[in-house]
Amino acid sequence: MILSAALYETMDRCPRRFALEKTHEPVTISPVAMLYAGVECGLTSSDPCEGARDAIRSVAADKDIDSPNLAAMSAVRHVGLMAEVIALALRRKVGMLKAAAPVSMGEHQWTPHLYETTQGSLRRIVLVPYIDDDVLRGYAHSWGTVGEIAALRRDVTLTFVAIGPQRLGRRHSAWTKCYRHPLRTSVLRFGRRKGSNGLTSGWLEVWREQVDIAPNRWLDQMDNDGVLEDMIQSRRIQFREDDFRVQRASEDMLKILPQMEVATTESPMRRMSCDSVIHGPCPFQPLCWSPVPVDMEEMPHLYRWRKDVTPASEEPSFYPSFCSS
Ligand code: SF4
Repeated sequence: MILSAALYETMDRCPRRFALEKTHEPVTISPVAMLYAGVECGLTSSDPCEGARDAIRSVAADKDIDSPNLAAMSAVRHVGLMAEVIALALRRKVGMLKAAAPVSMGEHQWTPHLYETTQGSLRRIVLVPYIDDDVLRGYAHSWGTVGEIAALRRDVTLTFVAIGPQRLGRRHSAWTKCYRHPLRTSVLRFGRRKGSNGLTSGWLEVWREQVDIAPNRWLDQMDNDGVLEDMIQSRRIQFREDDFRVQRASEDMLKILPQMEVATTESPMRRMSCDSVIHGPCPFQPLCWSPVPVDMEEMPHLYRWRKDVTPASEEPSFYPSFCSS
C-alpha cells in the first residue's frame, strides 16, 4: 500500500472527501495549491525562477484557477510572479533541494512530501498567510510533520513562508507589492529603513505585475529593507527513538488504515472541515452543500475522473492497490 501524510490529513479532515478523492478531482485548483506547485518545482530546478514559471504554466494548462474575485489570467500571473520570487528566496536560504525518496514502512511504502538539502537534512515547505506561535505549533503537530518523522525516522525542518492574507484574489505581502518613489519611479521600498523618516504619502503602492522588475532585484530590495527575515522562518523537529509521540503516531497510522478502506462518499459530512482559514474551502462544497441531491457526474464542469482511474472500468486503478494490503 502506498501511504503519504496527505492521505492521513485528508482522512482526518473528512472521510467523505477521502472517498471522493479516490476517483475524482476538481477541474479547478486553488491559488495556494498552484503557488505550492510553482515554488516546489522551482526549488528542485537548476534555475528556480524558470522552474517556478514552467510549473505554473503547466498547471494552468491542465486546470482552471479557482479565482472568483480576479480574472483567471491576472490570478495566474499574480501567483506565478510570487512563486518565482519565493522559490529564489528559498534557494538562496537553503540551497538546491531534491525530492525525498520513498521509504518502506513495514509492508507498506511511504511517499514523503519533503525535500532533501545537499547536506542531507529534510525540509518541509509550508506556505501560510502569517507566522505566529499557533501556526508553528499547528504544523508541528500535523501528519505532514509527525507522520513524516514516524515514517522516515529522521529530523524534519519546517520552513515557513508568510505569503500574506488573500483579499480580492491577491496576496498582500512584500512578495507581491511595494512602494514606488513619487518621482524616481525606479526606486522601490518595502518599508521604512532604520533612521529614515519613513515613506511620505507621495510613495505609491504598486503590485509586482505593474512594474517591470526582475525577481532577483525585487528580492535584493526586500532584503535591503529588512522585511525578508520575518517572512521565512524555520523550526527543526527532532526525531528520537524513545519519543512516545512518534511511537503513538506509528500505531495510529496502522489503526487508521482500515478506516480508510471503509470511507465512502456517503460518510457523514465533517462540517467543521468544509472551510479552513489556511487551506481555503473544500473543493467538494458544490456537491455536499447543494440544496438538492446531486451526483458528481452531473457536474463535469467542476469534477473529472482522476487520470489514474477510468470510468469504464469503474475500478479505480490506485484504489485496489491502495487497499489491497
Ligand atoms: S465539503 Fe465538507 S463534508 Fe463535503 S467533502 Fe468537503 S469537507 Fe467533507
